[in-house]
Amino acid sequence: TEEVLRRSEKLSVVGQLAAGVAHEVRNPLTTLRGFVQLMKKNGQLAPAYIDVMLSELDRINFIVSEFLVFAKPQASRFQRANIHEIMRGIIMLLDSEANISNVQFTTRFDNEIPEMKCEVNQLKQVFVNIIKNGIEAMPEGGELDIDLSYTPSTGIIIRITDHGFGISEDNLSRLGEPFFTTKEEGNGLGLMVCYQIIANHRGTMSFQSKKGIGTQVEIRLPVIQDVPPTG
Ligand code: ADP
Ligand code: MG
Repeated sequence: TEEVLRRSEKLSVVGQLAAGVAHEVRNPLTTLRGFVQLMKKNGQLAPAYIDVMLSELDRINFIVSEFLVFAKPQASRFQRANIHEIMRGIIMLLDSEANISNVQFTTRFDNEIPEMKCEVNQLKQVFVNIIKNGIEAMPEGGELDIDLSYTPSTGIIIRITDHGFGISEDNLSRLGEPFFTTKEEGNGLGLMVCYQIIANHRGTMSFQSKKGIGTQVEIRLPVIQDVPPTG
């Protein structure tokens, strides 16, 4: 019965999520409504408020697109791509954010990584989420190591290692639970989405962490050459 229970819990994740998403979207909507009312009353709005509106809109957009990864897994588009290039793009994208947080990227990229069939935008989302978590784990800054390697027997291995505050053993087992977060500004959706995307690619993602020492996330991806996996 425990097994059955666990399975039905899993099946209802989308349902649980929908309720959470509605809740998460309502807050920024309330803020936006307030500003629009203010605009109606005054006939204009200070640029600082417009910036708040834009970031609230981004927040809604972010939450909804994370949710769509679950609600619409069939809308997937597998294409041939190079993990090297994807990761290089992500590093460029996050470089200024890392700089602000005093974080330096150290990369070790194996030259021999073959192209694979994947959903580029989804893998990007995974890398962004994991790297951001690493940056957020190092409030004082530090090095974030990103290693890519490949062997025919292991497939592609991506290791992202931070030297941040680490994860307690209790919390390690909760990673990927919808809305599990220890951050004031967190939403606890990132890792859940990452697990889903990596599973869609027939890969695995695992965490090793020590409180006060840091965290290593290891993602393994098989090099899928032909038929995209379904479901
Ligand atoms: P969020 O970042 O919004 O909190 P995530 O799903 O990305 O949601 O992460 C969930 C939780 O896992 C975080 O709140 C944090 O407690 C923990 N976590 C994830 N990655 C790391 C990391 N690299 N270092 C420390 N804690 C982490
Ligand atoms: Mg996160």
